[in-house]
Amino acid sequence: MSVLVFIDTNEGHVKKASLEAMTYGAKVAEQLGIAAEGVVVGTAKDDLAALGKYGVKKIHHVNNPALDHLDAQVFTKAIAEVATKTGAKVIVFSNNVDGKSIAPRLSARLKAALVSGAVALPDTSNGFIVKKNVFSGKAFANISLNTDVKIISLNPNAYQTIAGEGTAEVVIADVTIDTPKVKVTAVNKVSGEVPLTEAEIVVSAGRGLKGPENWKIVEDLAHALHAALACSRPVADAHWRPHNEHVGQTGTAIAPTLYIAIGISGAIQHLAGVNRSKVIVVINKDPEAPFFKAADYGIVGDAFEIVPKMTEAVKKIKG
Ligand SMILES: Cc1cc2nc3c(=O)[nH]c(=O)nc-3n(C[C@H](O)[C@H](O)[C@H](O)COP(=O)(O)OP(=O)(O)OC[C@H]3O[C@@H](n4cnc5c(N)ncnc54)[C@H](O)[C@@H]3O)c2cc1C
Repeated sequence: MSVLVFIDTNEGHVKKASLEAMTYGAKVAEQLGIAAEGVVVGTAKDDLAALGKYGVKKIHHVNNPALDHLDAQVFTKAIAEVATKTGAKVIVFSNNVDGKSIAPRLSARLKAALVSGAVALPDTSNGFIVKKNVFSGKAFANISLNTDVKIISLNPNAYQTIAGEGTAEVVIADVTIDTPKVKVTAVNKVSGEVPLTEAEIVVSAGRGLKGPENWKIVEDLAHALHAALACSRPVADAHWRPHNEHVGQTGTAIAPTLYIAIGISGAIQHLAGVNRSKVIVVINKDPEAPFFKAADYGIVGDAFEIVPKMTEAVKKIKG
């Protein structure tokens, strides 16, 4: 019996979200008095044994370069086989793109109850109850999972990574691998210093910036903070910024440690994608802007005066 964690990779490197999933899975395993194990699909360039420091004792590696790109159906079948062979009782994913495509399929295949977007460890004192966000982060729900095998997908940044000691035993998983039905013919990577979903700090701007020609001040602040860039939807719709930077209900949902919103009003649809950020700083010239209600820190004033001053201050502090 085990808690099995899907260890997600990008070009062979383990994603930050997977480190959180492993730390979380190891804690769930500890609660249940069983071991945490991991499964990696595709080529791995990182030292998998070293992942033992996040609490996984054994890693099953489905080591096949044909699976270097996500094909949810093939991945699901391979992971289901590993889960069945290892007697996994709880399977943990990160609630990112890969987790969102695989976990529901696995749930159907294994007839296992699934909670997507978990934000805390399960309460196992009386059953198996997992807390998750609902209504775009405006409320929590506690979901009771009553099947033998349970699946949890953990919201990125909801659980802190803890690195300890130890190495994991790495074994090649002997599973049937179907020929992927999807063939990736080209990959056009988004350029940017930090990927949005993995970023600790995000600097975001909205229509208050007036036009794309004014983004230099936002970029300078992001650069000084080593942050990712984001924007509100109208900004992307107007082609001031690329759509991959659009955050919110219909854009990417993020949960960085620090979210700085510049010239964004704070509409509910925008908040839906950013309100899991740990600290929110809002810069807006309108003291009545709704975003201030969701802010931890607010600066009322003109972004064109404030942002360059902030950048200078950050540069000074960082030396
Ligand atoms: C179905 C649906 C889905 C949607 N999904 C999304 C989504 O995913 N993401 C999203 O962002 N929106 C989404 N929207 C749009 C959303 O409702 C808002 O219209 C949008 O978020 C507003 O963008 P904004 O804050 O950049 O612009 P505005 O609402 O125009 O706000 C601009 C802000 O800038 C401030 N400002 C102006 N000048 C300055 C200055 N010099 N210095 C400082 N502040 C200044 C203003 O006071 C104002 O608060 C969606 C809408 C719908 C109907």
